[in-house]
Amino acid sequence: MQTLLGARSSMRPLFGQRSSARAVHASAHAGASDYRPIARRVFIGAGLATTLISLPSGPSRADAGTSGIDVEHRLGEVRFTEEEWKAKLGPEAYQVLRREATERRWTSKLNYEKRPGEFKCAGCGAPLFNASTKYESGSGWPSFYQPLPGAVTEVPDYSVLFMPRTEVRCRRCQGHLGHVFDDGPAPTGLRYCMNGLALAFEPSAEEPAAGKA
Ligand SMILES: [Zn+2]
Repeated sequence: MQTLLGARSSMRPLFGQRSSARAVHASAHAGASDYRPIARRVFIGAGLATTLISLPSGPSRADAGTSGIDVEHRLGEVRFTEEEWKAKLGPEAYQVLRREATERRWTSKLNYEKRPGEFKCAGCGAPLFNASTKYESGSGWPSFYQPLPGAVTEVPDYSVLFMPRTEVRCRRCQGHLGHVFDDGPAPTGLRYCMNGLALAFEPSAEEPAAGKA
């Protein structure tokens, strides 16, 4: 049942050195009230010794406007069967969005995307980040300092031993996007470290065309 987790943990390179186990960053996602804690621990090197533990009570639990979202089972308002997700996303994006794989750094062309516009969820199309909040972190993954209001869900991630992190998901489909760390730039001090495979970029219509008034 957890057979994918063993493979998954080995596909997960380390994102950054610094991370704190912030339970939830409230200001960056005021609308993401569907937070529920998930504790997961992968015993590295122990094969399938993987446990999935759901804590009974959490520090924040608000139900307003979150009907239909099941954080524990990664089910959002937009949901498909695993087979449907596989067909829709293709193998690489499926592994990232639905199985928490991490793409290899510097492999996404979105690292180099500088135009104004919007980054959307590659799974469901929900707008996630405005391009104005993107910055060059040097990490090899597209990085942002702030998501659009209510666009993401942040969930504690203990899947790597001694490296508690905060997973970032698309709120609408609960697809895995990446992680958020505390070493970002002003004004938030946050680094939303995203998999390019989980994003689709849509340039602004009013992108200035050279030579045109
Ligand atoms: Zn989505």
